[in-house]
Parts: sequence; C-alpha cells; structure tokens
Amino acid sequence: MKYKMITRGDEASNTIAKLIKEVYLQEDEEVVFNPDHIFAVGGDGTFLRAVHDLFMNSTPSLENDCIIHGINTGTLGFYTSCTPVKEQLDELFSNIRNNNCRVQKVKPLSFWIKYGNEETDGGIGLNDITITTKERKTLTAKVFIQEDNSYTHFEKFKGTGLCFSTALGSTAYNKALGGAVVHPDFKIIQMTEMAGINSIAYQTLGSSMILPEDTAIEIETNDNIVITFDHESKTYTDNISVITISTLDTVFNIDVTNNDNFAEKLKRSFILSK
Ligand code: NAP
Repeated sequence: MKYKMITRGDEASNTIAKLIKEVYLQEDEEVVFNPDHIFAVGGDGTFLRAVHDLFMNSTPSLENDCIIHGINTGTLGFYTSCTPVKEQLDELFSNIRNNNCRVQKVKPLSFWIKYGNEETDGGIGLNDITITTKERKTLTAKVFIQEDNSYTHFEKFKGTGLCFSTALGSTAYNKALGGAVVHPDFKIIQMTEMAGINSIAYQTLGSSMILPEDTAIEIETNDNIVITFDHESKTYTDNISVITISTLDTVFNIDVTNNDNFAEKLKRSFILSK
C-alpha cells in the first residue's frame, strides 16, 4: 500500500509513528501524493490536519479512496479510532490488509471568496468555518440563505462573528458557542452566532440554526475578515463582495472501527470525569 504518516509532532506521537513504520509498514511505500491510507498519530487536531493534507495532496475527484485512520496518543477522540496498544494496532493492520475497516463517508464544508463576480479563493472545514474581523471589532454582515435556487436575505448580523459547522464538528467550537450537538448520521450545516448583538438596527435569529447539507449560505460584508477553517486561517482585506458557505462534493473516508458509538463518545468526552 501507499501510505502517509502525519503526527502531532510531540515525542510520544513521533515514537509511535516510528514504531508503526518499523513493525507494520516495512513492505509498504511512504508517499507524499495520493496515499491509499493516512495514519494520523495524535489527537483530533492531528486528524483534521490529515484531512487537509489529503485535500491538498491528492488528485481532485469526487470520491477519494484513501482511508484516514486516527491513532490517538491520549484517549480516544471524536475522530480517532484506536490507541497505540499492540492489540489495537494488530487489529487495525489486519483490518487494512483484509479490507475490513469500518469506514464513514463524510463531506466537509467549503468556503469561497468572491471579489466582484469572480471566485478567487477558498478552503475546507471538516469541523467548522468561522468568520470574524481582522481588527477584532464587530462583524457587520448580511446573511442570505439559499432555498430552491433563490436566496432569501435572512438577517443583518452584528456581533463577534459566525460559525458554520458540520455534524462532526458540532462537538467542537460550535458546542462551546451554545450550538446543538448533532448526531453524525445527519448531513447538515449548522450556523451559530458568536455573540450577536440584537438591537432595533441588527436583528438576528439569536439561536443556532440547522440546515440541510445542500444549502448554500452567502455572507456579504465590507469588513476586513479572518476566516478560520478547522486549524487553518486566512485574512482577507480587499473589498470582498461575498463569502459562500456550502458542503463540498468531495467525500472523505474516515476509519470509525471501535469508535462509531456517538453516545459513548459524548459520555466519555463530556460527562464522565476520570
Ligand atoms: P486544536 O487545539 O487542534 O483543537 C481544540 C480542541 O478541540 C482540542 O482539544 C481538540 O481535540 C478538540 N476537537 C477538535 N475537533 C473536535 C471535534 N470534532 N469534537 C470535539 N472536540 C474536537 O485547535 P485549533 O487548531 O485552533 O482548531 C481546531 C478546532 O478547534 C476547530 O475546528 C474548532 O472547532 C476548535 N476550536 C474551538 C474553540 C473553542 O471551543 N472555544 C476555539 C477555537 C477553535 P484534541 O486535543 O484531541 O486534538
């Protein structure tokens, strides 16, 4: 197989990555482009980096066959499906060799920036995409929601910013903002306000809103903005006309063997203390 190894970069993760290569991947080829499998050794943040790496370093297609495996060097996370103990690694590589991994197909969000009528730049977010201002002042924006091929001018937002998340990302930033936690079987886009100011001049829904995954949302603003997309961020200062948020068509395969029970994940991460 052709594989790629991505680690969090700390000593423990690097040691585990080296051990995995020596014990399980001696006969296989480490590549930069178009791997069949990516091993993300670290936490959920490392897994997100692996997804972005695959997006940047693979031939564009609607369904990428590569499977991303998260090997957590702490406890199991939301994306990681095994910890680096011998039994679990043996099982992981046996599943890979026998084509027996349990895979979940997921689509990230995307954003596109338009100057005038031209789409010039964009990015993807498996968890989320946020829009705030470069100067850390309030964001002023018109929000348009697309339904049946037409856009409704939905609200005029003023506040810290807006967060758009997938179901998988609903347990990350979205949750801290008071948005709903969504089961990953639902294919959705959730829009959550970051400290929206509700006044006579600027009226917004005030609660988070869950839309079908085929919805597009347009944001019009004259502000200089920062867009975060998972762990990445970009600043735009030159009179953007519109930002479009929608679900990307490309499907990514994530290994969920041993970690596809959502209620267990939530309980382990947020309810049970050690
Ligand atoms: P990061 O340090 O990589 O991640 C922040 C924390 O979020 C880490 O503890 C990470 O787990 C956890 N996490 C990531 N994805 C998750 C998910 N789907 N469900 C539950 N927890 C998740 O931070 P970053 O590099 O700035 O950005 C990565 C993500 O952090 C963003 O996509 C955003 O959702 C989140 N974030 C959260 C806040 C907040 O809650 N106030 C603020 C900024 C960004 P690991 O420790 O396992 O990596």
